[in-house]
Amino acid sequence: MSEHSKIEWTDATWNPLRGCTKISPGCKHCYAETFAERFRGVPGHPYEQGFDLRLVPEKLSEPFHWSRPRTVFVNSMSDLFQPEVPDAYIEDVVKVMVEANWHIYQVLSKRSERLRDMLSGSLRFAADKRHIWWGVSVEDRRYGLPRVANLRAAPAAVKFLSIEPLLEDLEDFNIAGIDWAIVGGESGPGARTMHGSWVEKIFKLCRRHSVPFFFKQWGGVHKSTTGRELHGRTYDEMPQVETTHIPERKVRVSAASAWQNRSKRWLSQPSATKELPILGAVGA
Ligand code: SF4
Repeated sequence: MSEHSKIEWTDATWNPLRGCTKISPGCKHCYAETFAERFRGVPGHPYEQGFDLRLVPEKLSEPFHWSRPRTVFVNSMSDLFQPEVPDAYIEDVVKVMVEANWHIYQVLSKRSERLRDMLSGSLRFAADKRHIWWGVSVEDRRYGLPRVANLRAAPAAVKFLSIEPLLEDLEDFNIAGIDWAIVGGESGPGARTMHGSWVEKIFKLCRRHSVPFFFKQWGGVHKSTTGRELHGRTYDEMPQVETTHIPERKVRVSAASAWQNRSKRWLSQPSATKELPILGAVGA
């Protein structure tokens, strides 16, 4: 777990999975892939296998070790709902979030059908928890807007959109039932342009429907020069946070220990993750 994140809308990241495959235009300049592939072949590095998908069961217990509540971006380096990830592993990740309920979790996916189906099925136990926020990425109309519809159909208590990188005018889409919208442009070499009029439309849509609006960045090749102001100010709105008292240390240590034991089943049952290599305890 990375205790501090540079991502503007979260405090920390937690990656019980690593690696992913590209599925839509928003993935073209995936920052996670660029980062991970830098370390492919470096012996002992967490990303020795580059961006290949890996379960990292040793990470399951990490939320219990933090001494202060955090807002946590779950799988900043992966996508929890990739088809190769076993249902039972996803269920374990979500059980940790339900149990360590003094943190806020932000789960973001591009695999919105599986997110919807599992929240309606085996993850139903977590759907009404307001400390777990379920989100989908939206980059354009063709791939992004069907994800919004799938998210709306899921029985999640808190739903959000990460509209980044915004690649085209989304026009007047249906934002009903959504609790938070993050908007941002692509950054880095080859960044695709985001027009202000596209952002303005989403801003007005959010205002009409009382959806908290978070403007992450304009982006561009040098994002530090374009900043994150809109209308001469920043927008850092978020859903209302409900906090729960953090248990004393011995309670958290005991829970962490139980999850460490439980996570061993993922190391001892390779059939459960057939064709999906398990990474050892190397830490991120
Ligand atoms: S879904 Fe996300 S993590 Fe996976 S390749 Fe696309 S941008 Fe990267």
